[in-house]
Amino acid sequence: MAMRRNRELTAFVREVVLPAGPDRKPVLDPARMLFRLHASRSRIHGWGLFAEERIPKGRRVLEYTGERIGEREAERRSVRPSVYLFRVSPVRLVDGVIGGSGAEFINHSCDPNLTARITTGRIWLKSLRAIAEGEELTYDYRLSTGVMLPCRCGAANCSRYLNRIR
Ligand SMILES: [Zn+2]
Repeated sequence: MAMRRNRELTAFVREVVLPAGPDRKPVLDPARMLFRLHASRSRIHGWGLFAEERIPKGRRVLEYTGERIGEREAERRSVRPSVYLFRVSPVRLVDGVIGGSGAEFINHSCDPNLTARITTGRIWLKSLRAIAEGEELTYDYRLSTGVMLPCRCGAANCSRYLNRIR
């Protein structure tokens, strides 16, 4: 029994935890993007996504994709050091580490330029305002309470946490 449990843990670490580690490199899926974007080092945190062309206000910019999982599995995956989960309902989440479009690399900001819209089960990140070429893309993660994660978005209205405490 102990051996079996160890094997399961090893597979979990290899397939779920390690791919979300600090060495994770962005891979973008252009088929999920409606504007030209690229990944680069971010001033906010680790890697980020940046506009390669001007994006008008109110447009779909890219789709957030990934493996669809439930609450219990999300809890299991919360041992990862970085957040790559998008909550679509109180009981369903999308894990961008597995089958992600690259949108999972978009950082949180307290003054974001994108917002998420869920349409027939698909997550679209839309522009809240015009975005300049070279600007980093951000959205408000609206994390529920739990572990408080400090925010370094640098916005004037920064609430100091990624969690929703406003
Ligand atoms: Zn902030």
